[in-house]
Amino acid sequence: MSVEAIICYLKPLSEDEIISINKYWTLKDSSKDEFEYTLKQIDSKRERKSRNVSNLVLKSLCLVNNQSFYCKDCKQAKPVKSRKEFSERLRVDSFVCRECKEKQLISLREKSAKVLANFLDDLLNKSDYFSQLTYIDKLVLLTLLFDDYQEKKPVITSNARINITGSENVDMPVLSRLVGLGALVKITDLPKAVALAQAKLYESSVTLDYKQNRYRYRAQHNQLVIEKGIYFSLPLGFNNSAEFIERIYNDIINGGISVQKITELKRMVIDMQVENFNRLIDHVSGEFNLEISNSVPLSALLNHLSEKYPITKCYYTFSHQARRVIVYMHQNEPASYAISHLFTKFVGSYIQMLEENGWELKYIRILPVAVSTSNLEALVSHNFIDSHFNWHSLSATEVIERWLSKITIHNAPALLP
Ligand SMILES: [Zn+2]
Repeated sequence: MSVEAIICYLKPLSEDEIISINKYWTLKDSSKDEFEYTLKQIDSKRERKSRNVSNLVLKSLCLVNNQSFYCKDCKQAKPVKSRKEFSERLRVDSFVCRECKEKQLISLREKSAKVLANFLDDLLNKSDYFSQLTYIDKLVLLTLLFDDYQEKKPVITSNARINITGSENVDMPVLSRLVGLGALVKITDLPKAVALAQAKLYESSVTLDYKQNRYRYRAQHNQLVIEKGIYFSLPLGFNNSAEFIERIYNDIINGGISVQKITELKRMVIDMQVENFNRLIDHVSGEFNLEISNSVPLSALLNHLSEKYPITKCYYTFSHQARRVIVYMHQNEPASYAISHLFTKFVGSYIQMLEENGWELKYIRILPVAVSTSNLEALVSHNFIDSHFNWHSLSATEVIERWLSKITIHNAPALLP
């Protein structure tokens, strides 16, 4: 291997500078990558106050007639900037220049992006399910899509807590029904080829990072990456999700609910409200340091209360009765097995007395943050309940009455169920 250096000067240089640069690139032996002079030797011969040759050499490039100095792909000569790069280059068997490497990466990237896009397109292929959507299905879909929906991104990511109605008992069956219809598609694991394309895409984003295009590549990667989770699939007959959202929104506002589905809707509202009551009971238990057993009587009581009374009024009653239980415990020292049932007993008796006398719950207490408003509650409150009321200031029965009074019912029954 014969190594004969060709030096390119990048800027106008003085004679002294040219001599120093030539010394820098002079090889000891034309067959090796060893240099004739050390940097110290060159600098010692230079004019005083002039810069070190290590700085000066930046104004030059060096090329030798060796295959490592020519790009394998574009065949162009690619000189080096320093001795370090020179030695490194000689050790490369087949050299590919940075521009060509970048081109390769970009083409790999485009291929990977295509694999990912095709996979998602195939999976979210439109199916003909629109006519099978019930009122509740549409309501749940609207809740999922209403809040800043992004096409080709999951409506629920795999690690997120599902909070559509606030009650898992309601969310889970509706979600699996929508998956069955094809309106929602679950992505749990990616096929090997897709996972590989995703890895390549990420790799190229990181490798191409040093360029000024860093943000573009990163953003593109984030946009294309397929997250695990539940995706929405547009049904046949719609051009885009905005069109779909508008249609189901109108369907929900205008109603068109069948008599049979009203029972289901009412059940849903009660389930959601019971869930809020359960959170409130947990809170009361902590607030008063009171053991409250999650018993069948308690659950029956909460079902009854949620149907008939606003949760804010119940919270006042719960607090009042919790204090009474504590006083009772101090005065009577009940058996330990009985303690956790006292709260349910006290509240139950109080409500029974109230109802027998035809009295009402008067006072309200502001709810703790633990009882939050679910997305669906917010949507329903906004559209069907007068502005000065919200879901929490009404009983489940009142919520459903106000809701149904604003929508059309097929074969309207004489009485609401
Ligand atoms: Zn090249």
